Amino acid sequence: MYMKTSYPSVLLIYTGGTIGMIENAETGALENFNFDHLLRYVPELKRFNYRIASYQFDPPIDSSDMEPLFWAKIVKIINYNYEHYDGFVILHGTDTMAYTASALSFMLENLAKPVILTGSQLPIGTLRTDGKENLITAIEIAAAKKPDGTPVVPEVCIFFENELMRGNRTTKINAENFNAFRSYNYPSLAHAGVHIKYNAHFIDSPDSSRPMKPHYLFDTNVVMLTLFPGIQESIIHSVLHVPNLKAVVLKTFGIGNAPQKEWFINQIKDATDRGIVIVNITQCQSGGVEMKRYETGLKLLQAGVISGYDSTPECAVTKLMFLLGHGLSQLEIHRQMSSNLAGEITKD
Ligand code: ASP
Repeated sequence: MYMKTSYPSVLLIYTGGTIGMIENAETGALENFNFDHLLRYVPELKRFNYRIASYQFDPPIDSSDMEPLFWAKIVKIINYNYEHYDGFVILHGTDTMAYTASALSFMLENLAKPVILTGSQLPIGTLRTDGKENLITAIEIAAAKKPDGTPVVPEVCIFFENELMRGNRTTKINAENFNAFRSYNYPSLAHAGVHIKYNAHFIDSPDSSRPMKPHYLFDTNVVMLTLFPGIQESIIHSVLHVPNLKAVVLKTFGIGNAPQKEWFINQIKDATDRGIVIVNITQCQSGGVEMKRYETGLKLLQAGVISGYDSTPECAVTKLMFLLGHGLSQLEIHRQMSSNLAGEITKD
């Protein structure tokens, strides 16, 4: 039973992660704990003039165990509650948060409400925790509305240590600093200081007349292959002949370059001829691929490799799993990988 109130309303979805963990007294290891425990440490939530409800994964999971099945669970919860809340905050472990954010950006087609992922590097019960600020500001962002009543940030985002970033542009870059995420190829959507300053120009404006369409299907027959000088032919051969392999995220050098050796190009060409989708993204943290710039990139293009533009690895692999899950042909996947489905790539 949902009461229609004029208060902003936010649904918190707690999946697990450090933010809600507690130290095991015997081993010293951090273990998941339940949501009530977490909320006890944030009495500030009561000061919000918002209707805040919560849903928790039982048991909560370390995000290293995150899988498409759990993404589908999150999407089901959002879809079921979509009309009843102004926005959604997902508490998630930081380790795979960028993958989940990318996946959700494709699964929630025509999203017109904020879905903000956040977490922390220190558990919320510890004195110096970063979790409180992250959670409180994420809730404020999820509830924020423009004067005309529409949401300020109708996108899947990650909020972490003062920055609001487009989810499918974000990467975890630091294992211990509070400032753990970056969006190298797309500007921040907002910065939280004394005020939360939104960069309206970079925030998506969806057509709210189109209903939100949830998607649930993934095919995980994909692999990420990082090139390095000296990589062996037998390794490339083995990877490209994994049974049922359907797609490869090829992490190349610089602007999209790979060895020119004949055996290498032949292996790649053989794989694309067998229907395997190979997407070229750069190993560099910032920038994208331009396969026509050097001979080495051009050869990949001629061997049937497609550009992943300036996609993050997290986004390229989840987008491929999403498209493959919908049973699309190699040609159609090529077309959609080159299309901007959810603001995930920059095309000139
Ligand atoms: N291992 C934790 C997780 O990703 C780390 C964190 O939350 O920061 O679930």
